Amino acid sequence: MHGLMQDWPLLCHKILDHAARQHGGREIVSRSVEGPIERTTYAAVRARALKVAQLLARQGYGEGDRIATLAWNTGRHLEAWYGIMGMGGVYHTLNPRLFPDQIAWIMKDAGDRVLFVDLSFMALAEAIVPQVPSIEKVIVFTDAAHMPQTSLENAVAYEEWLKGADGDFAWVTLEEGAACGMCYTSGTTGNPKGVVYSHRSNVLHAMIACMPDAMGISCRDVVMPVVPMFHANAWGLAQSAPMIGATLVMPGPRMDGAAIWELLDTERVSFTAAVPTVWLMLLNHLEETGRKLPHLNKVVIGGSACPRAMTRKFEADYGVEVIHAWGMTEMSPLGTLGTLKPEHDGLAGEARLDVKQKQGFPPFGVEMKVTDDENRELPWDGRTFGRLKVRGPAVAKAYYGGAGAEQFDEEGWFDTGDVAHIDAEGFMQITDRAKDVIKSGGEWISTIELENLAVGHPDVAEAAVIGVAHPKWDERPLLVVVAKAGRTPTKADLIAYLEGKVAKWWLPDDVAFVDEIPHTATGKIQKTTLREQFRDHVLPAA
Ligand code: AMP
Repeated sequence: MHGLMQDWPLLCHKILDHAARQHGGREIVSRSVEGPIERTTYAAVRARALKVAQLLARQGYGEGDRIATLAWNTGRHLEAWYGIMGMGGVYHTLNPRLFPDQIAWIMKDAGDRVLFVDLSFMALAEAIVPQVPSIEKVIVFTDAAHMPQTSLENAVAYEEWLKGADGDFAWVTLEEGAACGMCYTSGTTGNPKGVVYSHRSNVLHAMIACMPDAMGISCRDVVMPVVPMFHANAWGLAQSAPMIGATLVMPGPRMDGAAIWELLDTERVSFTAAVPTVWLMLLNHLEETGRKLPHLNKVVIGGSACPRAMTRKFEADYGVEVIHAWGMTEMSPLGTLGTLKPEHDGLAGEARLDVKQKQGFPPFGVEMKVTDDENRELPWDGRTFGRLKVRGPAVAKAYYGGAGAEQFDEEGWFDTGDVAHIDAEGFMQITDRAKDVIKSGGEWISTIELENLAVGHPDVAEAAVIGVAHPKWDERPLLVVVAKAGRTPTKADLIAYLEGKVAKWWLPDDVAFVDEIPHTATGKIQKTTLREQFRDHVLPAA
């Protein structure tokens, strides 16, 4: 017997229809690439997205066509996304922080036919597009007055291009499993792998993200996704904010502490999200200027582990609730969020921070487990760590073109490549990337835990821990530190600081001071480069 409920396919453009109808006047505020702050509404974004869809369809693009974007978070980028999806196309976000050759490789792999690009990336586009024969058209997110001279063929200013449409267009009807978006993972080894989102997975993910114990946003919130749309869909906020009717503040090209603070303050942002590096810049700015965060209620921090000191500072000094979150491009990206459960009521001080330090529990729609190397499930005891595996309706079941097939098993579990433990309350804590964990005398040492502790030292700006070859123990930890400006901590200071906080055999054998720690295009510490840099490092004899 079948249910007798309507077939109402979960399609992304229905999110924008809903936003325009129910929250039509709600604003989308952008720091434009040209400079000024620009304001639009969900109703206007929908009207212009329809023009994008109409023009693309008229110019010969249709279902399944990959349309690339190389752009910051702005209202224009948002319109283009919905326009692309609404004519059946697949938005393909490109990360401008990758090397040009890598971006070109990704575009060729995806077979992108059109490129929408911000003014900031014109030189980059000029270097890349000639290497990508499938690109037929370049649309520059600007108006005629700001359109630069360019060597790109078939380049047009977005605002001029839009003048050719009246928006009299009906979104195409698709089945909900149709592809609507693509994003490549920034693999540290091998070629990047393409993740292909469907309308259904994006809509479900957006609903999941809005739930109270997930991101918990409402139409009363002013939401600022600092995390870029090119980094795992801005963690879904470009879909959940319109779905719930929240005001959106788009930070455009500026992510320095002063620029972020200005938007948080003038636009009265209540909810924001980004990687720890961004928040480090903001917190430094607040310390330097004595400014406060009177409007902000919640900050979601993920992409790499949120240092304990950061949670403490946001919550104790600025009254902002921190939600530590974990996810991956392959998971659309939300996996777990660290909102507390009633079981944690009554915890205070360091005991509360112990829980907030964890990456949290999954919302409905994500299942997880940890296994040993023989794929045996490990207990949820908050100690035993193993490979973290996940499944759910917004989790990838394959990569584009069949790459990385070994990460998916017959039961639908995706091996995240992360190492984690899960406690009795279901709270997961990442201890490492599988390839970064230090194996010392057959036992594992968590580099993330050591890094989190080290950045709690008052003289430390940033810390990374890597394994260095050791004749007896195979590998031992080396702590690499960037000191805060004007501070000169010593190795002895740092080791003494860590003593008593971790098992003795976890203590780093050595400390190296550097001016800078290398980062990947998504803001994670680039351990491969660091390991290369310290390959010949000789640890002091015990
Ligand atoms: P990406 O697909 O670029 O978002 O990268 C996903 C990876 O980032 C995960 O597999 C983790 O290794 C790492 N990651 C994301 N969030 C966190 C977090 N809160 N703590 C530690 N690692 C994280």
